[in-house]
Amino acid sequence: MPEPHLLDSPRSRPWPGRVPLPAHRVDALPPRVSVAVVGAGPAGLAVASALWHVGVDDVAVLDAADRSCGRFFDRVDLLKQRVLRSPYEHHPGVEGYRDCELLDFARLHWGLLTEVERREVRMAQAGHRSVVPLDVFEAFCGHVADAHDVAGRSWRARVEELVPGDDGVLVRTDVGEVSARYVVLCQGEERRAAPAGWYGGHWDEPVPADGSLVVVGAGLSAAHLLAEAVAEGRETHWVLRSAEERYQCADVNASFFRPEGRARFTDTSWESRLELMGRHRRASVMFEFRPLLRAAEAEGRLVVHRGALVESVDHGKVRLAGGSVVTGDQVVLALGTTPSIGAGLLPEAVVGAVDGWPDLDPRTLSYARAPRVFAVGAAACMALGPAARNIDGHRVAAARVVGAVAAGLGAPALAGAR
Ligand SMILES: Cc1cc2nc3c(=O)[nH]c(=O)nc-3n(C[C@H](O)[C@H](O)[C@H](O)COP(=O)(O)OP(=O)(O)OC[C@H]3O[C@@H](n4cnc5c(N)ncnc54)[C@H](O)[C@@H]3O)c2cc1C
Repeated sequence: MPEPHLLDSPRSRPWPGRVPLPAHRVDALPPRVSVAVVGAGPAGLAVASALWHVGVDDVAVLDAADRSCGRFFDRVDLLKQRVLRSPYEHHPGVEGYRDCELLDFARLHWGLLTEVERREVRMAQAGHRSVVPLDVFEAFCGHVADAHDVAGRSWRARVEELVPGDDGVLVRTDVGEVSARYVVLCQGEERRAAPAGWYGGHWDEPVPADGSLVVVGAGLSAAHLLAEAVAEGRETHWVLRSAEERYQCADVNASFFRPEGRARFTDTSWESRLELMGRHRRASVMFEFRPLLRAAEAEGRLVVHRGALVESVDHGKVRLAGGSVVTGDQVVLALGTTPSIGAGLLPEAVVGAVDGWPDLDPRTLSYARAPRVFAVGAAACMALGPAARNIDGHRVAAARVVGAVAAGLGAPALAGAR
């Protein structure tokens, strides 16, 4: 059983030579580019880096936040998450190139790692599951951005509308317009909205430091909030809908990171893909939390309300079906995320949403009704499977999209360029 101490990597340690994640430019946007990438998270980073390899340099990465991968690191840091859930082999490098990969990068910084972290590197080298410190991942993302000149091509701009045309796409932002021949949407996921009548805090907001805490939700964010509250000695309640919490290494079955798993989303019916998504995209907690949370429960420091259907949440009161009420000074809703699929930016008819998923061409990940617009990240789940929302899936999706964009621009095929 993986142990809780694996979760405890130091964060923000001194890292000599580290290239920080680029701050976004605030000067005027270029009027015209070959490719506009909407979103500078790990997915946008993978796309911009892959474009660099095929020699497409006039790229504008547009993000509402002020630095690359800002939303990802803000979220994990708020939760005090110190390690990735995904292993070393999942990295936002570029498929098909011998760039320095995440594992190589960790080995190159051996002297900065703790003994526990070094053991995880050895585990990865031996082909076993491994745990990646966030410090290593953040420094690596900075390296990837630097190596592919992402900083020079990233602007702070909130994209408000995309107007697809025959020859290109007009990108309207809060700070001006860009005309692009192709657009790649890498918007990530928004916090899942709470049902009507539920009033509480949310997992991606700061939690007030005092008093008792009730956490509603069954995923990794819930586990981080609970572990922190228990460590602080607060009275802590965990409300979960299922009869039993689910502990898993990854949030997605490992086969979906491999070609045979992705093949289950190729040429299969919409219904069977939908069924797979429903079955495999379920909240779960990293195994390392199990001893910690079980011990807290056995010692009475954590009260777990299993099989608890929430009816309403209001002013610290969580009302359950059947009439019982769980109370706390703060209630935090950790209900997960929903993929951004281009709705609100593209016309509704272009998104063509069915069951919450956009209508994409699975070969290229372009929108079926706007072939110059592509989606990478969670929005591509019905084409690539549930791993599309993970770091590893971004790399696979980026290769597919950049191959199609490069062909359209007459750039070299991905495998033959720099
Ligand atoms: C707490 C937490 C931990 C996670 N841990 C892991 C893990 O260990 N391994 C893993 O593989 N995955 C993990 N994930 C999933 C993870 O979110 C993704 O792998 C990764 O962040 C997704 O990258 P992304 O670029 O698609 O989205 P994001 O990181 O969310 O980036 C999307 C970007 O798009 C920008 N954006 C959106 N709309 C617009 C707009 N209209 N205009 C301009 N900019 C816009 C946002 O500002 C944001 O910066 C985790 C998720 C969470 C919430």
